[in-house]
Amino acid sequence: MDIVQEIKKLKKEKNAIILTHCYQEIEIDEVSDFVGDSLYLSRAAANTNADIIVFAGVYFMAQSAKILSPNKKVLLPNMESGCLMADMIDVEKLRTFKANHPNIPVVCYINSTAEVKAECDICVTSSNAVEVVKSLNTNKVLFVPDTYLGKWVEHNLKDVEVITFNGFCPTHLRIRPEDMINARKNYPNALILAHPECHREVAKLADFVGSTKEIMEFAKKSDNKTFIIATEKGVADRLNRDSLINNWGKNFILINDKIICPNMKKNTLADIYNVLLTEKNEIEINEDIRLKAYSTIEKMLYVKN
Ligand code: SF4
Repeated sequence: MDIVQEIKKLKKEKNAIILTHCYQEIEIDEVSDFVGDSLYLSRAAANTNADIIVFAGVYFMAQSAKILSPNKKVLLPNMESGCLMADMIDVEKLRTFKANHPNIPVVCYINSTAEVKAECDICVTSSNAVEVVKSLNTNKVLFVPDTYLGKWVEHNLKDVEVITFNGFCPTHLRIRPEDMINARKNYPNALILAHPECHREVAKLADFVGSTKEIMEFAKKSDNKTFIIATEKGVADRLNRDSLINNWGKNFILINDKIICPNMKKNTLADIYNVLLTEKNEIEINEDIRLKAYSTIEKMLYVKN
């Protein structure tokens, strides 16, 4: 069986689309309708007339797609694909965090479950976090779940105290300051591009800090030829592929070979085929929670579309 052709056939039969996050195995792009970061994918899907969305990503991403497309069936290829960072906080922990710091606006990273989003004031992405927090015109915010993105916001907004929950991305924390120093030594002409989920000591050593989307745009526009990628492997893989296809003559080197999100890589072409065929692994969200989570996302989009 040619699995790629079978998936394409099923997509047509079922009026389905496939969303693929940049941290997925690159072979999944071949069957995808949209490839990108999580919010872009969910918004793109909401603007289609598809009946089924297959989200090749992690659980909270599929939930985001359902929040924005309540009338579409959203399927996650592998139910074991959860974001380790998003799973570090649940509603109970969030309520305790809020109770310990009362009367302070609560900002949640898009990397959080619908249930957590529903109890926060506003959502942010790694692209717009600084701008959205600034728009709150406050000198203090609570930030969940990623402590490092929160600290990145605080670094950029000198007059705002960001009180962070102690969540983190285990994949990005595998990048150590020594990796940055070694990369600088071994590739003196390279630019080092890092994600704000990295440890602050790592981000400080980067030439550019930005979201997945911002890193990819920066790399594409830059006149430099060599780049060290300090984020998940899928980003380096896609940039190298695009450089080859488009003759950019650029080389993208992953900062170290351990920067692979194990949960992102759980989705396979076989899983995608199976969920399309069986329509199993459907994402369902209580409507009250969905509406509250939607409002948290909507407030962000009002500030930064
Ligand atoms: S790379 Fe980190 S933040 Fe992204 S899905 Fe994996 S565990 Fe979550």
